[in-house]
Amino acid sequence: MSRPVRFNIHPKQADINAAVSMSEAPAGYPGEGFFTTNLASVVGLARKNSLWPLPFATSCCGIEFMATMGSHYDFARFGAERVGFSPRQCDLLMVMGTIAKKMAPVVKQVYLQMAEPRWVMAVGACACSGGIFDTYSVLQGIDQVVPVDVYVPGCPPRPEAILDGFMRIQELVGKESLRRRGSEQYKGLLESYGIQ
Ligand code: SF4
Repeated sequence: MSRPVRFNIHPKQADINAAVSMSEAPAGYPGEGFFTTNLASVVGLARKNSLWPLPFATSCCGIEFMATMGSHYDFARFGAERVGFSPRQCDLLMVMGTIAKKMAPVVKQVYLQMAEPRWVMAVGACACSGGIFDTYSVLQGIDQVVPVDVYVPGCPPRPEAILDGFMRIQELVGKESLRRRGSEQYKGLLESYGIQ
């Protein structure tokens, strides 16, 4: 049996008002003409909806990221369409692909050049654990050189998985305490990677 062919000759008019969704307001106290909440919630709300990713794509997983940026999956919906290649301006390092040991110091240098607060996402089996390349030349996970916040499994992960990982980063960013980056625990984490 042949598959029915669909022609898009009578496209439905999109209901723009119904399609637009708003960010949820943080927990607080609303009143007539005012809204009170705590500073960390407002900063978290702003940060999580304006992340600037730095795609460090070395192989096939990077192609999945390109699909994620395209109109179908539309990464821009999350306020993250401003992909940058300057570590100084970006706050989310997305490592996608096989990282050779020779490349590891470069990943670390890019991380060091990013200003705080910064987050890291390991996208795909290679970035998470070396993937199928259990060899002398491949880094067995980028968490050997930089701290990772979210791991996205898959070889390669589908764009939906990348979006899911990104939403988990947003959750972390939205809930992060403003004091975390100055805490002894965070300094200890960086010191364990040899970062002052
Ligand atoms: S995880 Fe798979 S798809 Fe992604 S870079 Fe490694 S080999 Fe390629």
